[in-house]
Amino acid sequence: MEVLAQPAFEVDEKGYYGRFGGAYIPEMLYPNVEELRQQYLHIIADSGFEQEFRYLLRDYVGRPTPLYFAGRLSDKYHTNIYLKREDLCHTGAHKVNNTIGQILVAKRLGKQRIVAETGAGQHGVATATVCALMGLECIVYMGKLDIERQKPNVERMKMLGAKVVAATCGSQTLKDATNEAMRHWINNPTDTHYIIGSVVGPHPYPDMVARFQSVISEEIRQQLTEKIGRPNPDYVVACVGGGSNAAGAFYHFLNETDVKLVAIEAGGQGVTSGHSAATTALGKPGVLHGSRTILMQTEDGQVTEPYSISAGLDYPGIGPLHAHLYDSGRGIFASITDDEALQAGLELSRLEGIIPALETAHALAYLGRLNATPEEVVVVNLSGRGDKDLATYSKSLDL
Ligand SMILES: *Cc1c(COP(=O)(O)O)cnc(C)c1O
Repeated sequence: MEVLAQPAFEVDEKGYYGRFGGAYIPEMLYPNVEELRQQYLHIIADSGFEQEFRYLLRDYVGRPTPLYFAGRLSDKYHTNIYLKREDLCHTGAHKVNNTIGQILVAKRLGKQRIVAETGAGQHGVATATVCALMGLECIVYMGKLDIERQKPNVERMKMLGAKVVAATCGSQTLKDATNEAMRHWINNPTDTHYIIGSVVGPHPYPDMVARFQSVISEEIRQQLTEKIGRPNPDYVVACVGGGSNAAGAFYHFLNETDVKLVAIEAGGQGVTSGHSAATTALGKPGVLHGSRTILMQTEDGQVTEPYSISAGLDYPGIGPLHAHLYDSGRGIFASITDDEALQAGLELSRLEGIIPALETAHALAYLGRLNATPEEVVVVNLSGRGDKDLATYSKSLDL
């Protein structure tokens, strides 16, 4: 009898997850990416690094974040729902786990300046925060349109000492900001580190970011063991923009085949409406921001403009690990519309007294479709808090 080899979910030496990943970069970027590729595993494995990373996660970020049994939400869906409270991290979301890790890498590479891209401003704020903490110069590229839409986060970044630079090309949003940040890095190869905000970009970024975020699933396993006597839930549910909070929540369960991994994308106004960011439903393999992955594109390969009510999910691709989880069938992928997410955000607020980020609300909205049994255990990764989305909630829900 032929037994299929278990698909591997770790990145291979060339930076691939199955047929996705790699480093598709212009020649000019090669020295920077190659330096990082050669160094990152040594740096991360160093005991001094590990100690400083753990120390900052505990005393600065506030880890471990609680794994909270949501009783009223569980009653409503007739199952056992635990919320991993990344919304309680300093700066209000999981993104700081990654920026802490990367700023420590940058310091060890002797870099003086940090450059980053941001869409909604959450990654920009998390980056500006750790630059202030370490006394490094910080330049954040942001689409001109996003600067106008996300004023409070722009003000936070400036308060923290970052320089916010407007990307004025193209649609003046995230993908244009990413292009400008990469251009800056090309022109300043020796003294600058580029902190990417999700599990995207050329190898080694997706693997490096997933490792820093993997603290989420490491804690879930310990906390579930204490609470229910076993480390594995039946489901882990997370929203996917680029995929960093999902990668962190899935990481230590990737080879635990009894755990179903559920990734929720933004359906926007509906998958077939022309206003959507449901990448796996609409996309095809191609190259985006330095890696081969699944992305939304036209017949002739032009990247399609994505849409979601939540700025953090408004991205035309997904990280290569997720493309592989989708391709191999290991992950369950689905999408949730703007309206469904808004209702789920309201529901969590009213049932549990927790206002989730609109991104997270997409994961919560899937609980109604999960069909988990009363005996099963579901962990939802609560990636961030909803303060930044209050204006959108109020307006859209007519509160
Ligand atoms: C940025 C963000 C996301 C989406 O990014 P991922 O890399 O997919 O995690 C999700 N939730 C919140 C709260 C965010 O700020």
